[in-house]
Amino acid sequence: MTTMSINRRHLLAVAAAAGAASTLPLRAARAQASGSATTGLAQAPAFRRFTVGDWVVTALADGGMTFNSGVLPEMSEADFAEAMEKAFHPPAAYPATINAFLLQSGDRTILVDTGGSKQMAPTLGNLPANLAAAGVAPGDVDTILLTHMHGDHIGGLADASGAAAYPNAELVIRARELAFWTDPAEASKIPERQRGTVAAATTVANAYEGRLTPFEEDVTVVDGVDAVALYGHTPGHTGYRIASGDDTLLIWGDIAHIAPVQLADPGIYIGFDVTPEEAVATRRRVLDMAASERMMVAGMHMPFPGFGHVARDGEGYAFVPAPWQHTL
Ligand SMILES: [Zn+2]
Repeated sequence: MTTMSINRRHLLAVAAAAGAASTLPLRAARAQASGSATTGLAQAPAFRRFTVGDWVVTALADGGMTFNSGVLPEMSEADFAEAMEKAFHPPAAYPATINAFLLQSGDRTILVDTGGSKQMAPTLGNLPANLAAAGVAPGDVDTILLTHMHGDHIGGLADASGAAAYPNAELVIRARELAFWTDPAEASKIPERQRGTVAAATTVANAYEGRLTPFEEDVTVVDGVDAVALYGHTPGHTGYRIASGDDTLLIWGDIAHIAPVQLADPGIYIGFDVTPEEAVATRRRVLDMAASERMMVAGMHMPFPGFGHVARDGEGYAFVPAPWQHTL
């Protein structure tokens, strides 16, 4: 027996004893708090601020959901499991986060997407609490920019009764995106499995009637913030480019949902893509641009807080999370 193995065994024994002593009361506390042995301990509020020139951009976590290989029509379960293992995730469940981003500069308070809702999934709908923790009330938001109208991006716009959750916000969205989900003439083009989005989009359009601002081209939506067409995931899927001073940030919406898979191989589409070929072409173009220009990006499904860079990695790419900015 070597010294090393004795030490290791000793350490394991100590860890086991410590674990037995400390985790039992912890489990009991959890069970008491939530009725479950595995949930009930709150996290710190999930918001994180970054600066982009004169803008303060705050990532707000709405929650999370897991994806299995079933969402990737052209990827086998075995290949998915291998990719997950390589990225240190459970083999059948990628833990995706849902983020939204708050832009603040001068007297402007702008939200880019609003997360989902508790009705959609109990693990979603946490954005209002994180927004409050970041010091912003729904009534303070003057503008909401939408990347697209899937439920995990617009679910937070209306409450359970269908009323607007942001009483003073102008809702800015690509005209063709709004039309695709809300114009009955477009209904036959909507994939069967995405028909549920029509009801949610219609609720939103009604809730914000009179303060909806659709735009057609890649316009400047707010001083310093430009719309960028990133079609494919949905027909009007749009990113927002924030430029100030020497800094640029592209909020890219749903360019990728499962980073370890879709950045490694941008050709892998997700079942939620309305036009998969176009989504793949857009992803390739954006990843190439972000890597070449060393541009900071922020993604709604990149690991919270979702800020980072895109590095070339073999034939594909890898996401490099941005370091915490400890001075703002
Ligand atoms: Zn999404």
